Amino acid sequence: MQKMLDKLSQTIITPVEELITDWTEAAGVRLLIQREDQLDSEISGNKWRKLKYNLLAAREAGKKHLLTFGGAYSNHLAATAAAGRRFGFQTLGVVRGEATEPLNPTLAQAVRDGMALRFISRSLFRDPEARLAHLSLDLADYYLLPEGGTNALALHGTREIITDSDWKEPVDYWCVCCGTGGTLAGMITGLRTGEQALGFAALKGNFLDQEVAQLLPDGASSDWSIQHDFHFGGYARFNEELIQFINAFKQAHGIPLDPIYTGKMMYGIFTLIQQGYFARGTTIMAVHTGGLQGIAGFNQRFGPLLV
Ligand SMILES: *Cc1c(COP(=O)(O)O)cnc(C)c1O
Repeated sequence: MQKMLDKLSQTIITPVEELITDWTEAAGVRLLIQREDQLDSEISGNKWRKLKYNLLAAREAGKKHLLTFGGAYSNHLAATAAAGRRFGFQTLGVVRGEATEPLNPTLAQAVRDGMALRFISRSLFRDPEARLAHLSLDLADYYLLPEGGTNALALHGTREIITDSDWKEPVDYWCVCCGTGGTLAGMITGLRTGEQALGFAALKGNFLDQEVAQLLPDGASSDWSIQHDFHFGGYARFNEELIQFINAFKQAHGIPLDPIYTGKMMYGIFTLIQQGYFARGTTIMAVHTGGLQGIAGFNQRFGPLLV
């Protein structure tokens, strides 16, 4: 057990690649991608980063069970299930909405990873206190991870996306896609002098800026902003153009993107490059946060859109 957790506390360095395209050449910008999707084959990208210090804290507190929450295709549920199996925790996942049989690929894998599932109606799920009461568990046994995995300890982990980056040269913009904004917030705390962070909202609505601001500790950098023009209508919404972009990107660069988060961010970055948003000579780092497990469920729901 201790050995396994030692692995958890190790520094993790993911590969950085350069993307050269007609657009980057024409705009005179340098576009890099940090492959957090290659961090681990099961515990994906930013979800590993967010879990890291929470699992160490859970172990420290002697908790044997992890309890968490998410939608039926949640990358966070998938990562928590895999991390539980890997690092020796029992896991209970509370899923929003009715159970469907057979389970979708995300939940089926979570169950194979040993996660117990409880389904809760959407209305109850929306109320964190009521849903916790409804579960009637002895909470003393459980380490609670919030939906999406964002809390103060998660920020310590996502900070390391920058502080442990293999890329030591200056970066002008660190780009990342945002759900809760926890990943962005942690990265903001790790920015180096002269660097700024650029978030890409995967959800519709302008609440995100305020939520990120609230997550940030006092004295954190104010060199960050969030783009709200690339959510394609909201969470898990998409159109033909996004699908074509993701498929073309994979063909051109050999790098898969997911349709919920990273595809939207990369589409946004390319659009901004074309619009001349970035000055010539700018270095842009796109953080590939992973989430590729979601593609199977996406194709199952909507047809085999993603190659
Ligand atoms: C969960 C997730 C995000 C969003 O992370 P937040 O910290 O909630 O903003 C981004 N990308 C991928 C691939 C994710 O799974």
